[in-house]
Amino acid sequence: MLNCTPRAIEKIEDAQLRILWEDDHETVLSFAQLRRHCPCAACRDEWSGEALLDPAAVPDGLGAARADVVGNYALSFAFSDGHGAGVYPFELLRKLCRCAECAYHPGSETN
Ligand SMILES: [Zn+2]
Ligand SMILES: [Zn+2]
Repeated sequence: MLNCTPRAIEKIEDAQLRILWEDDHETVLSFAQLRRHCPCAACRDEWSGEALLDPAAVPDGLGAARADVVGNYALSFAFSDGHGAGVYPFELLRKLCRCAECAYHPGSETN
């Protein structure tokens, strides 16, 4: 099981979020990428998991006014397009990591 506890979360410039995990892994996600993976009911079908949001409708330079920790297990974002309904569990954020290591071992354990 992946370690999904963030040690540090910070915004880089206006378009990216950097998460440093307890196991020293670092994940950098653009807000556009996060927005495209929004797990709220309006963006993703709750039953099929199918995306209802057109990824092309999200501009690459999307920003976020705020990132808030939700109940110690998730983050929510106030995106600059006005959307903010998604609650992103830390596990989802870790799964969205596209660094070389995570891309090479999709979904597998890292030690
Ligand atoms: Zn959404
Ligand atoms: Zn990674």
